[in-house]
This record gives sequence, C-alpha cells and structure tokens, in this order.
Amino acid sequence: MVLAQLGGSISRAIQQMSNATIIDEKVLNECLNEITRALLQSDVQFKLVRDMQTNIKKIVNLDDLAAGHNKRKIIQQAIFNELCTILDPGKPSFTPKKGKASVIMFVGLQGSGKTTTCTKYAYYHQKKGWKPALVCADTFRAGAFDQLKQNATKAKIPFYGSYTESDPVRIAVEGVERFKQENCDLIIVDTSGRHKQEASLFEEMRQVAEATKPDLVIFVMDSSIGQAAFDQAQAFKQSVSVGAVIITKMDGHAKGGGALSAVAATKSPVIFIGTGEHIDEFEVFDVKPFVSRLLGMGDWSGFMDKIHEVVPMDQQPELLQKLSEGNFTLRIMYEQFQNILKMGPIGQVFSMLPGFSAELMPKELDNSNPKLMTESRIMRIARGSGRPPREVMDMLEEYKRLAKVWSKMKGLKIPKKGEMSAL
Ligand code: GDP
Repeated sequence: MVLAQLGGSISRAIQQMSNATIIDEKVLNECLNEITRALLQSDVQFKLVRDMQTNIKKIVNLDDLAAGHNKRKIIQQAIFNELCTILDPGKPSFTPKKGKASVIMFVGLQGSGKTTTCTKYAYYHQKKGWKPALVCADTFRAGAFDQLKQNATKAKIPFYGSYTESDPVRIAVEGVERFKQENCDLIIVDTSGRHKQEASLFEEMRQVAEATKPDLVIFVMDSSIGQAAFDQAQAFKQSVSVGAVIITKMDGHAKGGGALSAVAATKSPVIFIGTGEHIDEFEVFDVKPFVSRLLGMGDWSGFMDKIHEVVPMDQQPELLQKLSEGNFTLRIMYEQFQNILKMGPIGQVFSMLPGFSAELMPKELDNSNPKLMTESRIMRIARGSGRPPREVMDMLEEYKRLAKVWSKMKGLKIPKKGEMSAL
C-alpha cells in the first residue's frame, strides 16, 4: 500500500467512526481494527501496530469521557500521537555545523539509493552555503566511482576516488584527509553495499568507520523492502553506530510502512526522504508534519518551506504581486504552482495542503472557486476525485482559511520561513 493510501485508509477509518451516532467501545474497536489492517498492509511491523492499538485504548477511555467531549478529536489526536511515537525515537541525530569539518558516512544495501542520496545530501547543503565533498569508498561495485563522479560533477561538488585502489579504507582515509585540508565542512563517505547482508559487508563498514571516525553514520534504506526493513535496520545498527536514517524512493509505489519501522529498529530518526531520482527530489523529514500529511491534516510549514525553496523572492514577481494584492484564488494557486513545480510532481506539493489530494484533477482544481461552490459542484468534484464530499468541503474550508490569511498580507511581504507554522 502506498503511503498516501495508508493515510487515506486511516482518515477513512476515523471518518467512519465519527459518522456513527454514538462513539462507543464497539465503534472505537472497529476504527482501530481498520487502522491496524491498513498499517499491517503497509508492512509496519506487527509488534509496533499492536503496541499502538493498546496505547490508544489506554489513552482513550470512553467511560471517563463526559458527553460534552469531542470524542472524534480525542481519538484522532491519540492516533496522531501514536504514529508520531513510532516515527520519533525521541533523540535528535548529530547535526553538523557549518564551517566545522564533519565526516558523514553513508551505509546501506546495494540498490538502496545510497550513492544518489550522498549527492542529494551534499547538494542540499551546498545550496545552503556549505562546502560539501564526496568520497567514493565503494570499491566493490564496478562503476560506483564513475556514478559518484558523474553526479558530483553535475552538481559541482568536489569528489575523491580511485579506479585502481582496491582498499576502501585507504581511499576513505585519503579522501577525508584531503577534504579536511581543503576546509570542506561536510565530508561525505559513500561506502560499498552488497546485494544482501553479509559478514564481509559489515566488516568493511566497521573498518571504514574505525579509520575515518565519522561524526554521523547514515543508514540509507529503500522504502520498498517491506517487512524485512526492521531486521535489516537492526543488523546495520549492530555493526556500526547508525545515528540517522534516510528513506529513499518514497515516490514509488512501495508500501513504505516497513521502512518506517526501521526507526524503531535503529532508534535513530529519519532525517530526509528521497522522493525521486532527480538531485532535487529530497526532503527534510519532520515527524509531526509528515504524520499530519499522512492523515490529510496538512503541513503548512512544509508547504511554505517548499515555496521558499523553489521561489526565490526576487524571481517570482508575478506570484508575489498577486499575493500582495490580497487576491488569492484557487486559480492563482494552481497556475502559479504549475510554474514552480519544476521541483517535482504536483501531488508532492499539493499533498502538503490539507484536503488537497493528488487525485484531484487539474480541471476540477481550476473550477474550484469556493464562492461558486454549489452543492452539486461539490458532489461532482467528490465523485470525480473519488473522495467523500466532506473532504471536498474540508478542502474548501481550508482554502478559505488560507485566503483569509493571505488577504491580511495585502501590501505586505510574504512571511518568512516558519511564520506560517503558527497557522
Ligand atoms: P546504491 O547502489 O545504493 O548506491 O544505489 P543508487 O544510488 O545507484 O540507486 C539505485 C537506483 O535507485 C538508481 O536508479 C537511482 O536513480 C534510484 N533512486 C535513488 N533514490 C531514489 C528515490 O528517492 N526515488 C526514486 N524513484 N529512485 C531513486
């Protein structure tokens, strides 16, 4: 089950529960069973799902809730919190400091997207003013150095590797030394992978780690590996001290839930996710906004971050002009975002908006001036997008809310990063 579908299933379960006249034990159980099924189908580890169900039941004690309580909200909040707990190990990973040399070692199985992710990570930081460098200590896979070289050259990032040296430890040490001397502040070491977990892989990883003393070891995991995720993550964690996880291929049709279980296995936070093959298709991972998006509750701060990332203030005068006129319509949103969506598919950004789903057709988006939204139009959009009418209404409500916020911006500058998170 693709993650968007998982979110949809959970939201539907909550919706069905709130449609019930009385929320009693039976209704709550049905809702939780539905959520359990969805999580298991998404390959989240069984024990995590079972614990989550038990915890929610402990928190939501229906007998103690007086009639006036909004049970739906309380249950929804409990589900939200529990999903966050699965994804949040409770301790942040090592954060490199700009200007001070840090060694970051990447580990993972072959094909997980490790080499691609090394470049994405370097590029992400380079855009923010860092001086990253890439070291190819993968001597196992033929062509690994060429791939890294090609990626690094494209992104104008210095790199180090060898066609002749077969000792990964030696290359890693030489590369790290060189880039320290060149005052690079983010020295990224790409290590070998194997098709499967093998003693030789873990031994090599241990040796490279011992020789380069990385400040952070990042475990790269393909989101499609399913139930194997928990064990795989644990095996890596036992060999080197994994401090953070990056999950790749979140754009694909993978189930994704298994990889989320990896957090529990490594007790390390997910710091980024890969959302495509392109160097730009890389997102900072924050637990709360992610779960919020998963449950269709929206992620305003992520949305604004994306805007700031893709629309430099001085390069989108038209968008800024329209927004500063306080004339904020769905059409403007759609047209302008089409321009700025070079970063990735439209769904990626629109999924950050509450109630907008990737399934919504452009034609319907284009038609969606909420002032003109008659009941029959709402019904038609709901039918067309395969969503309940209530979701369309929610989306329009959210749009109105946002339009109201923007109308206050009339004549003002667009808020800076973070300011929208208070919405
Ligand atoms: P490595 O063997 O672990 O170093 O893996 P590579 O970096 O060579 O990646 C394997 C394949 O996965 C390549 O075709 C990459 O383009 C692709 N890939 C990596 N990350 C992503 C991602 O986030 N999304 C998608 N769709 N493909 C990815």
